[in-house]
Amino acid sequence: MDEMITNIREVFVSNLDDLAWMDAETKKAAEEKVRLIFNLNLMFQVKEYFENILKNLEFGQKKRLKKLRIKVNKEEWITGAAVVNAFYSSSRNQIVFPAGILQPPFFGKGQPWSLNYGGIGMVIGHEITHGFDDNGRNFDKDGDLKDWWTKSSTQKFHELSKCIVDQYGSYSWDLANGQNLNGNNTLGENIADNGGIRQSYQAYQNYVKKHGKEAPLPGIDLNHEQLFFLNFAQVWCGTHRPEHAVNSIKTEVHSPGKFRVLGSLQNFPEFAKAFQCQKNTNMVPEKICRVW
Ligand SMILES: [Zn+2]
Repeated sequence: MDEMITNIREVFVSNLDDLAWMDAETKKAAEEKVRLIFNLNLMFQVKEYFENILKNLEFGQKKRLKKLRIKVNKEEWITGAAVVNAFYSSSRNQIVFPAGILQPPFFGKGQPWSLNYGGIGMVIGHEITHGFDDNGRNFDKDGDLKDWWTKSSTQKFHELSKCIVDQYGSYSWDLANGQNLNGNNTLGENIADNGGIRQSYQAYQNYVKKHGKEAPLPGIDLNHEQLFFLNFAQVWCGTHRPEHAVNSIKTEVHSPGKFRVLGSLQNFPEFAKAFQCQKNTNMVPEKICRVW
């Protein structure tokens, strides 16, 4: 590619000589411009994995440093549109939902609102709550690193966070040789999950109040409260190779899908109510954690 770009650029320059319609002064400016066309590429070598990682880090860092001391463009998209994911940016106080995630099972124009709220609704609440997790809470309404908390609220936040840290830290993951999750590394995501499911459930109840109950789905013996939770569990359904599980339990900031579902639903009594779980069973713990 580099060679072809160089060769073609040279032909463009030499062709300028043939152009009878352009004067010498303009040709000189055109030559200057074509030589300055910025060639953005990053070269990897097949057998140099470590060096490739360093090159990638250097490239990304240079790209970020170019923006140093330049006013933040809050309209700029921080991800591609086809990505099946959603984001919160603490330095912009911005939530982002690419087109890729706006499809079933997360969201569908023709699917019941119970499923939409259990899917993308929970994700919306999750991203909003990131602005108020252990990291996001340190940024103010403009995305500036500024403390807007009173001492007593900060102290309470830490206490309630500890409840979540201990809860998730007690989960042992079979796929990772039974190792326990790291409740500290996953705290922000767990706070976001817990807030997200609660907010979205309430928002669905408000929807029903306003628009009336949705018709039951034919051929499935579940009501819409149950379907809300079913779709929430569905979107986090997946599996891992044991090797990946062992790696991700040390590095991932998200809890494994299974615990994202169980953890946040153990803390949300509406789930046990919807499925009539009995006292002292797994989904009705004695102590529940709630931050938002
Ligand atoms: Zn998140």
